[in-house]
Amino acid sequence: MSSIRNNIDQIRARIAAACANSGRNPADARLVAASKVKPAELIDEAFAAGQQLFGESYVQEFRDKEASVHSPVEWHFIGALQSNKVKYLRGKVELIHSVDRLSLAREISRQWGKIDAVAPILLQVNVGDENSKAGCAIAELSELTKKIAALPHLQIRGLMCLPPYFDDPEQVRPFFRQLRELAAKIDAEQIPGVIMKELSMGMSGDFEVAIEEGATLVRIGTAIFGERD
Ligand SMILES: *Cc1c(COP(=O)(O)O)cnc(C)c1O
Repeated sequence: MSSIRNNIDQIRARIAAACANSGRNPADARLVAASKVKPAELIDEAFAAGQQLFGESYVQEFRDKEASVHSPVEWHFIGALQSNKVKYLRGKVELIHSVDRLSLAREISRQWGKIDAVAPILLQVNVGDENSKAGCAIAELSELTKKIAALPHLQIRGLMCLPPYFDDPEQVRPFFRQLRELAAKIDAEQIPGVIMKELSMGMSGDFEVAIEEGATLVRIGTAIFGERD
């Protein structure tokens, strides 16, 4: 058995266990294989092992790889995104996880408008309030959601976060919980066109805690593909 297949099987079992522990349906916590820096062959290998959904973090790398992956994978974009590169994602990704400002959302709407489509997006929130991290400030989330929701060619489907790093995943739990509570708060505002369905949170070191706190998309790289060098 290949180690990628092995890793994927183990992660799926751990996802299922975390869902069972927290009374959740395993179908509601999807695995996004974070494949940045890993070659197309490994993506095909993961696909052969049953993994359909992949998240890329760099636009240029995605463009090159997307052309050389043979399997019919579903792509998400999960990394920091510059407006001038949005055009390269147009129509090629099913979900953009990392929208954190109005100018970027406007460009996504403009590009998807050219193909007469609607881009599903998540709003990235800087839950740790870290200067070094992307993401909308918590205090600005409600206003930003309203402004972005008014754009014609995108739809807000939920929230994403990259919380501060801790060795102990229990220390990340409050940030995951905060993202879930923010989503509930936005949901209660009933902003037209906004669906707070997805919570993209949890990575290799902390995805079980994220699932216990409501994650619907966990983005896992290292635990599938090994360390990145
Ligand atoms: C690389 C990456 C991940 C995966 O991180 P691992 O610790 O390798 O599981 C998750 N989210 C984003 C945005 C990433 O860029």
